[in-house]
Amino acid sequence: MSIESNRLSPKQYAHNFADFHPPFETHDAALVEANRCLFCYDAPCIKACPTSINVPKFIKQITTDNIKGSAHTIFLSNIMGAGCGKVCPVEKLCEGSCVFNLMDEPPIPIAKLQRYSTEIAMKKDWKLFTRKVTPEGLKAKKVAIIGAGPAGLSCAHMLSREGVDVTIFEKDEKAGGLMTYGIAAYKVTPAFCADEVRYILSIGGINIKYGQELGRNLRLDIMQKDYDAVYVSIGVGLARQLDIEGEELEGVIDAISFIYDIRSKGFSKVPVGDRVAVIGMGMTAIDAATQARRLGAKEVTILYRRTQEEMPCTEVELDIAKLDGCKIIWLAAPKEIIGVNGKVHSLIADVMELDTPDETGRRAPLKTGRQIVLEVDMIIKAAGQMPFESLITENDFENLRGKIVSNNTATNLEGIFAGGDCVNGGKEVVDAVQAGKDGAAAILLYISQQ
Ligand SMILES: Cc1cc2nc3c(=O)[nH]c(=O)nc-3n(C[C@H](O)[C@H](O)[C@H](O)COP(=O)(O)OP(=O)(O)OC[C@H]3O[C@@H](n4cnc5c(N)ncnc54)[C@H](O)[C@@H]3O)c2cc1C
Ligand code: SF4
Repeated sequence: MSIESNRLSPKQYAHNFADFHPPFETHDAALVEANRCLFCYDAPCIKACPTSINVPKFIKQITTDNIKGSAHTIFLSNIMGAGCGKVCPVEKLCEGSCVFNLMDEPPIPIAKLQRYSTEIAMKKDWKLFTRKVTPEGLKAKKVAIIGAGPAGLSCAHMLSREGVDVTIFEKDEKAGGLMTYGIAAYKVTPAFCADEVRYILSIGGINIKYGQELGRNLRLDIMQKDYDAVYVSIGVGLARQLDIEGEELEGVIDAISFIYDIRSKGFSKVPVGDRVAVIGMGMTAIDAATQARRLGAKEVTILYRRTQEEMPCTEVELDIAKLDGCKIIWLAAPKEIIGVNGKVHSLIADVMELDTPDETGRRAPLKTGRQIVLEVDMIIKAAGQMPFESLITENDFENLRGKIVSNNTATNLEGIFAGGDCVNGGKEVVDAVQAGKDGAAAILLYISQQ
């Protein structure tokens, strides 16, 4: 057993990481699906979208060959509509609520249609928005955004549309946040993410300063004085630790670093074990497990301390992992990692059972006293993310275990707004985009009343 990089040929990597949801091949194929839509009155798909994209409208515009109008309808509500067409868990959002599900027929492939219009718009570089002339009262106003992820970019775009210039301070070298660095490579490619950021910025009025990190070379109290409003959208970034013996051994890695390396270094440069255990059952765990398999791991086992009924990932994601040949062990919690010569050799897990439901209906996992041992050479921790608690506390934010508390995006600090994962604790890209829109609306109101 060993951890190695460069396990596959370039052809195999390309095959394994090819676009997971391929686009329509022809315009006619898109038309066939668009024409199935019933254009429902009171459409449930709109309500299920956190950014309230007018789904029947953009689909109708496809049927009348108004692709520009269709893309505009999507981007008006969600400036990352192209990326969301690739990464949204639509089975629990728009497509999950499509009325066709009630008729036991396949739902309208909303994401694929969304992708159809928006990709044409991006490819043709259609300028669908012009900036408003800055209203007199907002002319001298300065707004800063900290973090260039989906929430920050969405906030910036909305403010720019309204004629307000924005400066984004980003600690990394690229914009896009977890969309660029965290999401599985078979859902979005780095090239697509770069293009999406370029398209968003093409509106103008948004200046990104890279290598600028709150807590290192940026101070919130100074920004509070220098800017009329600041929007904080730094996400949640730290992987939750397992707090078990052996966690420091060579071969134990957290899922976010593993995925970050795949996204930033390239497939052949990322080492992966022969036999890999993944801890957790959220979207991150699934992404890490499937990508470990796609990098050439011979065996990948996902361990979850509860059952399928309680798992945080969707059925569709679970199916992806199973189709990739990942094994699942339910009701197993990591207890200890055994090492040989400083390297991972095996994982001991407690076998769990579920308690009777408490008043909230949730059943706590309890140890049965039995254990299992898995021989593995790599362990990927995907037990959730933690907010930047010390950074949040040091900057005097009212917070709930590190999640910034906000009232309609306004924080307890004067002129400081916040949104996205750093407030909600970690949801989806589409939620962060809506949070950015909400932040921009609150900031516009705030600076216009100053
Ligand atoms: C592994 C993984 C897989 C995921 N897969 C999906 C998926 O398939 N579909 C989906 O919809 N969602 C997915 N998500 C969730 C989604 O990526 C996030 O909800 C979304 O990116 C949150 O946007 P955000 O702007 O709030 O934060 P982020 O995307 O985290 O962006 C925050 C930005 O702030 C910057 N930053 C952080 N700290 C500082 C600082 N101190 N100073 C300056 N800048 C800072 C970061 O570099 C980053 O650019 C996934 C998340 C993870 C971790
Ligand atoms: S629910 Fe389905 S059929 Fe109805 S408008 Fe939305 S996509 Fe069309």
